[in-house]
Order: sequence, then structure tokens, then C-alpha cells
Amino acid sequence: MKLSASIDNAMPELVAIRRDFHAHPELGLAETRTSAFVARHLEALGFEVTTGLAKTGVVGTLSCGTGSRSIGIRADMDALPIAEETGLDYASKTPGLMHACGHDGHTAMLLGAARALAERKNFNGTIHLIFQPAEENAGGAKIMVDEGLFERFPCDAVFALHNEPNLPFGQFALRDGPIMAAVDEARITVHGRGGHGAEPQETADPIVCGASIVMALQTVVARNIHPMDPSVVTVGAFHAGSASNIIPERAEIVVGIRMIAKSQAESFGMRATVDYERSYDATVNHKAETDFLRETAIRFAGADHVVDLQRPFMGSEDFAYMLKERPGSYFFLGSRVTGEEKSLHHPGYNFNDDLLPIGVAFWTELAEAYLAR
Ligand SMILES: [Zn+2]
Ligand SMILES: [Zn+2]
Repeated sequence: MKLSASIDNAMPELVAIRRDFHAHPELGLAETRTSAFVARHLEALGFEVTTGLAKTGVVGTLSCGTGSRSIGIRADMDALPIAEETGLDYASKTPGLMHACGHDGHTAMLLGAARALAERKNFNGTIHLIFQPAEENAGGAKIMVDEGLFERFPCDAVFALHNEPNLPFGQFALRDGPIMAAVDEARITVHGRGGHGAEPQETADPIVCGASIVMALQTVVARNIHPMDPSVVTVGAFHAGSASNIIPERAEIVVGIRMIAKSQAESFGMRATVDYERSYDATVNHKAETDFLRETAIRFAGADHVVDLQRPFMGSEDFAYMLKERPGSYFFLGSRVTGEEKSLHHPGYNFNDDLLPIGVAFWTELAEAYLAR
């Protein structure tokens, strides 16, 4: 069957699947409904299906011909603890949870490719479709790798994509070498002395001290890191206090860098404790696989729809851990049409369904080209 015909036929069902995932978001390592659907769907298409890696992870395997080469393509399945504000008729039915990163779309896309690959059987070798849990925080990719993903499902190369509303629709943005940053997280607690808001002299106000720490943290990158080394310090949360007339005991700030917090707190006569946690490593693409990806994307979309990113994105991605084990490449697929699209992790974000046929066709072509007869 021609690829375009196969994809056109499947599209209404695929959009329905994507919207069903969207309506039923699940947090990392708890994607039981999504995972069960993926497993059933792959089985029906004739894939050999393995479940239970990293709790809810699924691998679908399909072989064709006698070739010994193999390719892995990964999609993430988890949602975020964000209250959805899209007003869509298929908006999240679970209060406080939302597919705000488009993993519903990534999963649907790979299921669409599964269908096209199974219908066409136009390759020589083995395809492993890897549906991983918990990209957003628990590092599902690393858990799958630690549980023997690539020993059980050997892949000569692995690929993954992420939709990106800040890039033009249908643009392939790739990069040899680092494409996503490493991330660490710190939780600073400022220990003050609480009391009445009208008697500050009797207290040690952790909010004022915390605000000063937040400002001082802005100098970490400017004054401590080589100007050519990309780095970002973001204060993502500041929790303190409960009423306008109460000075609280503690303030909690979530970010980076111990030294500043401690010395700032000391200058206020307070104590700061810092819990520092190394999170995901940097996502580093391999050269040969990125060259292959670029070649395939140019043939697929035309050279004017393929860009090499000058700089890595400063977000992070646990596909990093698959790329540490196997050569491969990760890229962004642009979804911006009007310029009004909300960014990833915004409560008004929604995956653009028009990307589905592009992603399905591209994954199919990439796998078929990698395992060419
Ligand atoms: Zn994401
Ligand atoms: Zn995300």
C-alpha cells in the first residue's frame, strides 16, 4: 500500500485516539490506561508486545525479511500535574492533570507509524517501538534502560522527537551533539522566626531573606559561569506564608546553588538548608545518526523545512539515557501556525493534530530507510 493512502485511511481513528489520550492524562509511572491501550493496539497490528518495563512501559517489536539490523523509535506517554485551561470538548477529565507537553500526540503518532509499518512490511530487519513512561520527572527512559531495554531489544540506533510550538509548522530542527541541557534541582529552606506582622522586630522574616536569595541567584550564571557555556538558573517555586499579618517560620525556594543561599541567609541572621538533586543528564546526539536523520528529513520535507539548531534548548529530556547506551538522534518537529500557540507546559497548550500525518509518515520513512531492503 502507498504510504500516503495508508496514512489517510488511518487518520480519523488516529485523531480520535490522540484526543482520547488527551481526555485521560496519567502521571509518570501511572500510565496504566494509556499503556494498556498501546499494548492492545500493537497486538492487533501483529506486533510482538512486551509490557511491564518501568512499570507501564511497552515495547512493540516487528520483524520483516532476514536482515539483522534493528532500529528503535521512542514515544513518551506521561502527562503533567497542571490544571487544563483549554476549554476543549476533549479536555482532561482528571482534575489537576493535563497533557500539556504533547506526549498524547507523540504516542498517537508512533501508533500511526506502527500501523503503516505493519501494513506495508517494506523493510528488512527489526523495528522496536518503545513507549516509555515518566519522561517529565521520574526518568522512565533510564528505568527502562536499567531494566535491560537494549539487552532485551537490541537497537543499532534509536530516535525520538518532540513537538515544538515555538518552531514553524512542519519544520525539522536537529542538532549534532548536545540538543538538550542537563538539569539539577535544589530546594532551599530559609529558617526564620515567625511572629505577628505588626512586630517584625520580634521575628526573623524568611520572606524578605528569601526574596534576597532569589535576586542573588540571578548572578550565578552572570558571574560564575563561562560566558560561552550555556546555562540557566530558574526559580520555579517560592512558598512562604499564609496571611498578610503573619510572618512565617520558613520560606522554601526551588532552584540551584547552595553557596549563595547560605551566605545570603547568614547576612540576615538566618539559616538556609539546601537539598540538591542531580536530575537528567544532557541529551547528546550522535553524528552519523544525526546525518542520517537530516538526510531523511530533507528528502521527506525539503531542505527549506530542515534546520540545524545553533544552540541546544535549555530544557531537558530523559531520552539522554537511551542515547548514552545506543547511538541515535533526537529532534524537534515545529507546530507553530498562527503564532498564538501556547508553549509546552502552559495550561492552555494543546497538541496540533495536523502534525500527526507528518510524524506518522516520517517515522515510517525513517525506519524503512534505516532498514532498507
Ligand atoms: Zn515533553
Ligand atoms: Zn514536558
